[in-house]
Amino acid sequence: MSPSSSARRRILPTAALAATAALLLTGVQYGTASAATSGRDAAIARAQANVASHADLFGFGPGQALVVKDVVTDADGAQHVRFDRTYNGLPVIGGDLVVHQDARGRLRDSSRAKGHNPTVKTTRPAVAAQTSAANALRESENIADATSAPELVVWAADGGARLAWQTTVSGTGKQGQPTGRVVVTDATTGEAIESYDSEHSAAGTGHSEYTGDITIDTTLQANGSYALIDPVRGHTTKDARNLSASSVKASSGTLYTDADNVWGDGRKFSTDRATAAVDAHANTAWTYDYYKNTFGRNGIKNDGKGATVFVHVGTKWDNAQWSDACFCMMTGDGDGTTDPEQVDLDTMGHEMTHGVTSATANLRYSGESGGLNESTSDIFGTMVEFYAHNAVDRGDYLFSDQSTPPWLRRFDKPSLDGSSADCWSKSVGRLDVHNSSGVGNHWFFLASEGSGAKTLDGVSYNSPTCNGSTVTGIGNQKVAKIWYRALTVYMTSTTNYAGARTASLNAAKDLYGAGSTEYNAIAAAWSAVSVS
Ligand SMILES: [Zn+2]
Repeated sequence: MSPSSSARRRILPTAALAATAALLLTGVQYGTASAATSGRDAAIARAQANVASHADLFGFGPGQALVVKDVVTDADGAQHVRFDRTYNGLPVIGGDLVVHQDARGRLRDSSRAKGHNPTVKTTRPAVAAQTSAANALRESENIADATSAPELVVWAADGGARLAWQTTVSGTGKQGQPTGRVVVTDATTGEAIESYDSEHSAAGTGHSEYTGDITIDTTLQANGSYALIDPVRGHTTKDARNLSASSVKASSGTLYTDADNVWGDGRKFSTDRATAAVDAHANTAWTYDYYKNTFGRNGIKNDGKGATVFVHVGTKWDNAQWSDACFCMMTGDGDGTTDPEQVDLDTMGHEMTHGVTSATANLRYSGESGGLNESTSDIFGTMVEFYAHNAVDRGDYLFSDQSTPPWLRRFDKPSLDGSSADCWSKSVGRLDVHNSSGVGNHWFFLASEGSGAKTLDGVSYNSPTCNGSTVTGIGNQKVAKIWYRALTVYMTSTTNYAGARTASLNAAKDLYGAGSTEYNAIAAAWSAVSVS
């Protein structure tokens, strides 16, 4: 929302304002507010009376009216009432003032902005609003799909007073995020007076479900409220309001906004709908940063554009998914009893990775290529968890360990979930893609950490090999680097496990050389899951 439209909403019709002012001049005595009047209303009424009776002090002249903006009451009852002013019904930019009064409403001091003498002819000027709007659009060339709303104002922020068009241009920014710019133009000459972003990046405080108290990137909007729009990466986080996943479009739901930029209550199954949004917003940012800082990839499509993130999708929808059609991620609220919201680090990394896969190898979501697609999401989702270095949700080879406790899938021996495959076989492509992915996940663990029993950061693993070999790992960062190159350079939509072995060996050769330790470890790990 533009500042002008919010100001306009609060302005009473001129006749009503004049009547109120007249009443105030004659009718209000200090200390006479009735019991029915709230303390705030009484403070405002007294402040209005103070301005009227000290008109010189506040520069309050004919044609002016006050619009209440804020009331601050001190512990001792002293009040600070803030007003914007209008002149002949037009908002005065730079005409704001504060009335400082004691607990009984007696004037103690005053503060006023420069524009306290906004006397100017307010007859509609010759230079049309369209000219101003056109100027504004030119100024806003980085905003796509821009629409503008010119409003006639008295511009008095430099202490003078002139009639101006204040035009708010709203549209889509470079990263796909909602954005806006305010352009002020002299209404008589068409000269540009000033222009500025109507929205500003901010650092919010998030009380998350899974990663403790964290800082999140938010946007201060022109109307003074903060929104879950990530100005760095372009992500926008919305409440789907329990719309089912099949019905969600990018335009669905409600953008999260907040008055104090402090979000959520840190609880699982929280009644505060912003809590899951904190995790989703932050973990999408971690995923974006992982891809950018590790591989130089600018977002899902490598074009710098952010996605829309929906939380509270469906009812008891114990799931999360990526949709190419709406370029958005959707997460549900879990089953309502044991599994809470599906917004933890590896889950968000998993879903966003489906977008990356779709924009690159585009592995078909059935048969062995489907298993590789799922495995790719598990691998990079897990790498996001390692990358984030969060003290609460630590890096491990357990997938969805926070939102589906104790874990949904694991890498060292995937069959421990009861349905995933540890080793390749001719029939593996007939399994569900979340189970045929086991072969790829098992390969990733062996190549990263090696075979056998070990404890890593307090978690016990025991990874078998399908061919009785002993495998030595090269660390997950190298394996992830090789897998990313295999995915983005060599794999195609119909790549199967044998093809994945070839693609990753090609990638290892490019990065570390044929016959290098890394190349040999990749080969040995594939052989250890029966892919030759
Ligand atoms: Zn998936």
